[in-house]
Parts: sequence; structure tokens; C-alpha cells
Amino acid sequence: MLYSKQTFLVAGLSRSGVSAAEFLLRRGAKVLIYDDVEEGAVRESTALLKSEGAVPVGKDELSLRTEECDVLVLSPGIPVDHPLPVSFRRAGKRVIGEAELGALALRCPVVAVTGTNGKTTTVSMLDAIFRAEGKNSVACGNVGKPITSCAESLGEDGIAVAEISSFQLETLYSLRPHVAVVLNVTEDHLNRHYNMENYVYLKSRLLKNSAESEYAVLNYDDPVVRGFAEKTKAKTVWFSLRERVDGGYLSDGSLCFRGEKILSESELPLQGAHNTANALAAICAAKLMGTESRVVRGALAQFRGVAHRLQKICVRDGVTFIDDSKATNVDSTIKAIGSVKGETVLLLGGKDKGYAYEPLFDAIKTSSVVHTVLYGENAFRILNAALKKGFTAVTLCRPFETAVRVARMIARDGQNVLLSPASASFDAFRNFEERGDRFAEIVNVGAESSSEETAAAEEAMTEEAIESVVVG
Ligand code: ADP
Repeated sequence: MLYSKQTFLVAGLSRSGVSAAEFLLRRGAKVLIYDDVEEGAVRESTALLKSEGAVPVGKDELSLRTEECDVLVLSPGIPVDHPLPVSFRRAGKRVIGEAELGALALRCPVVAVTGTNGKTTTVSMLDAIFRAEGKNSVACGNVGKPITSCAESLGEDGIAVAEISSFQLETLYSLRPHVAVVLNVTEDHLNRHYNMENYVYLKSRLLKNSAESEYAVLNYDDPVVRGFAEKTKAKTVWFSLRERVDGGYLSDGSLCFRGEKILSESELPLQGAHNTANALAAICAAKLMGTESRVVRGALAQFRGVAHRLQKICVRDGVTFIDDSKATNVDSTIKAIGSVKGETVLLLGGKDKGYAYEPLFDAIKTSSVVHTVLYGENAFRILNAALKKGFTAVTLCRPFETAVRVARMIARDGQNVLLSPASASFDAFRNFEERGDRFAEIVNVGAESSSEETAAAEEAMTEEAIESVVVG
């Protein structure tokens, strides 16, 4: 792409938008920038980009100014059927994402990871493995750095370990990973992608450029992902928790790759079968990149996980508090309750993404969850599903803070309080990190104030009982 002869409109000035604009400015392009929001962090980013040569465009002049643009760089947060990208397409102009700009600039091998759940964990495992090997590896894409910000520094010898979301796949055309990993595809983001068919199709697009010399690491246990093998030219390497497949599998309590034991399951610090699956996927990708088994083993045995994913926060008065705020869909919460040992009070709720919550209560009923505390915008929808499934150990509280305190009060010595919401956070927080941090703040309050806290919770419970539902 000859950047200096084109005019770009960068829409959406989050981290990736800022990186895309700076990438284009460094290449001499004319860059217009736009965001619906004009306050806070966006105001700061706008000022920064303006000082670097970008031209901010206001809402009222947007349609006029877009006429002079050749390409729209769309934030993954803006749907592709938003009027802005629709107007570019109608005019026969390109609509791409920041990841596409990055893909066009990358010169090094790429290991790309997609899937509904486990992307960040698997990318972080792989990045840790490649770093342990002494490689110039960068975790980028949907996690870590935007691809446009690291493509140059990676050069030809680095390894880009790219987390690719379905939102990014909507506007990504040129990425051709040496190893493409697809972890799983379960219901998520249907408020954005409309139906499962479309969502599955988007996930399969990660493999569409792969040639025979490249690899697709696919989850044999996931029927949707298994089907992807037929759609790609890449050589398929499987991973499975159940079968001895050609690739990564379990044998006698060990994680193996093609007949070789890499490490035993007990050496993995992360809990849960889903994390063993992530590790198997990472082992396959690392081995296909030529990493020695002892390096893979060492890095995985030291991998302590990523914040807000089944992260143990503290033990207070015999109760263990676990932050799994990143569980923003039903399947990830099902995996979480299957992984946590001991009786558990589960905090659920937030922004609705259009899920059916009934399968969640099927899983809860056969798990060690003894009580659920519901909060947030979708609390009544979740309550409905609980009642439909005959699960009555439910308390509903409106604000998150109250819900956490009530859960803390309900939990007895030896039990867990698990925040694994099966919902997005945007009804009350900027992101899942903020929600997890708030949870930790509340539960981390010093032991000396714990009686105060209990009193606050009791008071909240009494107040809440007036306007909330305590089912059982
Ligand atoms: P992503 O980046 O795809 O959102 P993360 O690694 O951040 O995935 O994990 C998100 C949530 O999903 C966490 O709460 C975690 O407990 C759960 N999870 C992680 N790996 C898997 C997996 N392979 N299958 C299902 N759930 C998973």
C-alpha cells in the first residue's frame, strides 16, 4: 500500500486506533481522526495525534470530510454495519482494521490464536515459551501491543504471537500465520454478529490465507473447530483432552506431543481442564515453531496465569476469593465452576450479550456452587433462567458492590466466592479489568475492618431486600 498518496480516516481512538494513526503518519499518509466520544482519554489521544499531524474531524463535518478519504481504518469496537463503514463500502472504498495494517507490515513469522475463550491465556503461554527460548517475541493484537506498534521492531527474526478476536476478523484480510490456532467456538458476541453461523464463519477466516506449508492447530474435541480442518489448505495438527490425536494429547497424566512427553499435568500451575487444553494448544504451536521440548516444559511449569482469569485474590475468614472477571460468556463461566475446588458462592451478571443462560444453570446444578448472587443489567434475565431450571439458591442485588459484600456474607468458612459473571462489564465498568479490580478492592479490605464490612453488607442486605429478590 502506498501510504503517502492516500488519505485515511481512523475511526475509534482507543489504543489500536491511536497506534494505527501513528503508523500511518510515520509513513507520510494524510490521516483524519474521529471518535463518537470527545471526552476523557479520547480527548488526550486526539490532542496527541493532532500534534503529530493528524486532522481531527467533528461529528457534524464527518460525512463531508469522508468524501476526501480513500480508506477507513475502523476500530474493532465499531460494528461493520455502522453507517460510517457502510458509506465507505457504498462508495467502493476499503474498510480495514488496525490488525490489517499491522499484518501488511509484519515481516516475521506469526503465530495467531483465535477462539471464543482462552486466547489471552494461550498467547501469554506462547509468548513466555518463545521468550524463554531467547526469541524476540511480542504478544500482540487483541492483547498486549497493537500489531502496528510492534511490526517494525519485530523485524524479520522476531515472532509475533497475535491474539485475534472475531471483531478484528471482520476487517482483517491479509494475515497469513505460520501457525494458526483455533481453541474453541461457543456462543458469544451474538449481539454483534447476529447469529452463530456468522460468528463461526468469522472465526474460520483466520485460516483462509494459509497454504500447504503452514499449520492449523485445531481443537479435536470441539465439533465446530474440528470442521475447520476441511476448510483450510494448512496441515492440521490436533490437540485433545480426550483422544490420542496426531498432535497434542494427554497420556498417563502427562501432556504429550506426537509420542513425546512434554510435562506432567501436575507441573502446570494453572487449574482446570480448559487450561490444560490451552497448554496443549501452546505446546503444538511451539513445537511446530521448532522450540525444544525442555524450553516448552520450563516455561509452562512457571506460567502463573493472567490477571482476572481464575485469579486467587485472598483468603479472608476462611473464605477464598477468586477473580474470574474475564469470564464474559456462559461457556467460560461453566469452565470456571468446573475448575474451582470446594463449595462456591458465584457472582453473576453485567451487560447482556444475548445469551441463553439456561445451560449455565444446568451446569451449576451439578457443580459445587451452593448459591448465586446476581447483579447488573441482566440480573432479571439470569434469575429467569435460574427459576426455569429450578435453581433457587439465588439472591439478587442491584449494585455490584452490594452483591460482592452480600456474597462475602453468605460464604462460610472453607467456601469460595467466585466472580465469574458470564456477562460483559460495560453496564457499570469501563472494562472487565476495572470490574475485577473493584472486586479485589472490596474483598481485600483489611481484616481489621472486616466487622465494619459485614455490618455494611448486612445493612445493604436489609435495604436491598426491599427492592430485590432473595429467592433462597
Ligand atoms: P480470551 O482472551 O479468549 O477472552 P482468556 O484467556 O482471557 O480468553 O480467558 C477468558 C475466560 O475464559 C477466563 O475467565 C477463563 O477462565 C476462561 N477460559 C480460558 N481458557 C478457556 C478455554 N480453553 N475454554 C473455555 N474457557 C476458557
